[in-house]
Amino acid sequence: MENLAKRSAQRSAKENIRWVSLVLVLPVMVTGNQNKAPRSPPAKRRGTAVDVSLDKRGKIGAGRTTGRQPLVEANHKKDVSGTSDMEGAKASENAGVVFGKEEVEALLNEVLKLKKLDAKGNMQLMADYSKRLKLGLKWSFQEQEKLQTELESSRKKCVDTETEMERKVLDLNSFLLNLKNENAALDEKLAKESSEKLDALNLHRLEKEARVVAERFQASLSEDLENIRNEKLAADKQVISLSETYKRLQEYNTSLQQYNSKLQTDLSAVNETLTKVEKEKLTVVENLSTLRGHYNSLHEQLISSRASLDEAVNQKKSLEDEVKCLREELQKVREDRDRQIVQVQGLTADILRRKEVTEKSIIDLENLAAKSQALQERCSSQAEQICVLHHQLATANDKLKMTDLSVIESKSKHEEYEKTISELRSNLADMEQQLINGEKLRKKLHNTILELKGNIRVFCRVRPSLPDDGVASEVIVSYPTATESLGRGIDLIQSGQKYPFTFDKVFNHEASQEDVFLEISQLVQSALDGYKVCIFAYGQTGSGKTYTMMGKPDRRGLIPRSLEQIFQTSQALTAQGWKYKLQASMLEIYNETIRDLLLPKSSNMMDVVRNESGVAGRQYAIKHDSDGNTHVSDLTLVDVCSVREISSLLEQASQSRSVGKTQMNEQSSRSHFVFTLRIFGVNESTEQQVQGVLNLIDLAGSERLSRSGATGDRLKETQSINKSLSALADVIFALAKKEDHVPFRNSKLTYLLQPCLGGDSKTLMFVNISPESSSSGESLCSLRFAARVNACEIGIPRRQTAMRPLDSRLSYG
Ligand code: ADP
Ligand code: MG
Repeated sequence: MENLAKRSAQRSAKENIRWVSLVLVLPVMVTGNQNKAPRSPPAKRRGTAVDVSLDKRGKIGAGRTTGRQPLVEANHKKDVSGTSDMEGAKASENAGVVFGKEEVEALLNEVLKLKKLDAKGNMQLMADYSKRLKLGLKWSFQEQEKLQTELESSRKKCVDTETEMERKVLDLNSFLLNLKNENAALDEKLAKESSEKLDALNLHRLEKEARVVAERFQASLSEDLENIRNEKLAADKQVISLSETYKRLQEYNTSLQQYNSKLQTDLSAVNETLTKVEKEKLTVVENLSTLRGHYNSLHEQLISSRASLDEAVNQKKSLEDEVKCLREELQKVREDRDRQIVQVQGLTADILRRKEVTEKSIIDLENLAAKSQALQERCSSQAEQICVLHHQLATANDKLKMTDLSVIESKSKHEEYEKTISELRSNLADMEQQLINGEKLRKKLHNTILELKGNIRVFCRVRPSLPDDGVASEVIVSYPTATESLGRGIDLIQSGQKYPFTFDKVFNHEASQEDVFLEISQLVQSALDGYKVCIFAYGQTGSGKTYTMMGKPDRRGLIPRSLEQIFQTSQALTAQGWKYKLQASMLEIYNETIRDLLLPKSSNMMDVVRNESGVAGRQYAIKHDSDGNTHVSDLTLVDVCSVREISSLLEQASQSRSVGKTQMNEQSSRSHFVFTLRIFGVNESTEQQVQGVLNLIDLAGSERLSRSGATGDRLKETQSINKSLSALADVIFALAKKEDHVPFRNSKLTYLLQPCLGGDSKTLMFVNISPESSSSGESLCSLRFAARVNACEIGIPRRQTAMRPLDSRLSYG
């Protein structure tokens, strides 16, 4: 029995020791696991894991910017390891106690060497063993307490983690809310922008219509653009911050995953420990059941141990529940994280979309800005153009004003000018009148001078080139333009040599009949005053003698004009009491024979016949009385009372004039034609009487014999003409030389004109010139002759006036 008791005691002691060792082992395992325990994200500035989690919560709650803590904390495992070192130190303190896992196991496995028959020794051994068991139990209790504290701390940690997670969830919710708000704000801005864009487009259209509005709109657009750019920059910043947040969240997520994996590893370790503990418990229970019978004294302790074991199991269960809860929470957190990731992705997609929209809107805005810029430039250019046009308008207006002013000025000036012009015109008329008077005076004075000098005057007239002269004939005369010889000089060029001549007057080919008559009108006038006037026309055949003297019906010559003037003046002088009697006679000297040109045709023919037959007819004897009056016997004298009468007489004379044919001029007269107008004037009131004579002589052609090519009668004609002309020249030169004998009787012409060529008459000779080179020789001869004549002083003219009674003279005949 004692053996059985001993054995059972031993067995119970063994079991007891095993249980104690189990109890002792558990805290050691738990402590070891605790050292590797779930790592909360390590804090940078805090020493413990609990503090770290608390700090992290605070940080997460504080804001997004501090969200990088978990990463930083993850890099501070050394602190945690430091903590684990401290706890390891505690464990080593516990290890310093005699009991450990091995010791308990050894204690449990210890087999007491009970001595037979030494109950006292055995009891001692049992007592020692129970003591050691007690110590082991004590140690196990201490370890249990430690485990409890550890569990509490882990619970706290779980609670903290939970709260932290909740706060994170709240933070994330708030962040999401903020993001939504921002999104809404961005949407609103986008809507605003789009509306502004539409407004801008409308304004653009309006701008085309109104530039001023366009400028304002452009300004607003540029402002909007600036705002949008700023907003875009802000949005970019937000995007950057969101992406940063997203990165942080990812980092945080990875840290959470790490933490979760650690928790899982810890859990698996705890589970393993639990399985081991359960196995050990089973063994201990078996040991206890075997020892129960043997160790009653230890029964109560065992019950208490069981209770404590139950408590530990409960604790384990609660821990498992907590782990489950943690897992669920973790799952929730994961789900939340996934959802947040999805939301973040959605948000990033939104952001990308908004970015695109913003970029599009920026491009649109840039386009709009470019358009507005172009419009602005166009506006500015148009404004410049408008400015330029305004300026031009202003200048044009100024110019217009100036022009108006100048027009007014010019009007006034014009009026002044018109006044001046009218004044000048009247002055001019006066001057012209004065000039005419002056010219008249000049002529009078000139005549007086010439009269005083006693010169025979010579006028030269050059006829124009005639179509008959032919193209080859070259003009050989020119007129010097020097003032001293202007209108008085003529140069003849013959075989390259120039022969200058100066006369009292030179009429070029342009001089009209009137111009010529104006020059001699004074001379004609002097016939009315009682002078004997003699005007010759000298020159070769065809040089214009007859044209100058008689003229054409439409270009009347000197004879009709002189007669007209004499009639007009005589009529004008009737007012002063003058009465004039005019007697005209016309004769020709042909072959030294006088022919009465006013004789009727039939009687004239008779005269010719008689002359030719040698029968004496009308004698036409020339006689000069003592008063210097010439009388031609049998000559018809016609009293003329009107110009018309004179015209018919001239017509008659020209028809009766002998006309011969020569090579030079078919119409050439081969005779000297003498028109004589005798003027008798009586002033009834003054009893004054005047007697003047006007001889207008168209000489026969002065050409030399060799050129005319005449033979027979024509030769006789020519010889006669030349003889009479040379006789004229002789007379003139004799008079000039004041010779005692003047050969007046050498020819009929000179004898007829004797009183008119003498000292008391006024003589004028026209030398007519043909301008053609073919006539240059004759022209030179004529000019030389005329020049010699011009140099002659043939006497001082004298008026033939008398007081009544002189009636006998008037009836001469
Ligand atoms: P002359 O009597 O000396 O032989 P005319 O008087 O018969 O010469 O003139 C000859 C031609 O020249 C005529 O046909 C005449 O009309 C013309 N003639 C002469 N002189 C002029 C002149 N100054 N202007 C125009 N024609 C003239
Ligand atoms: Mg003639």
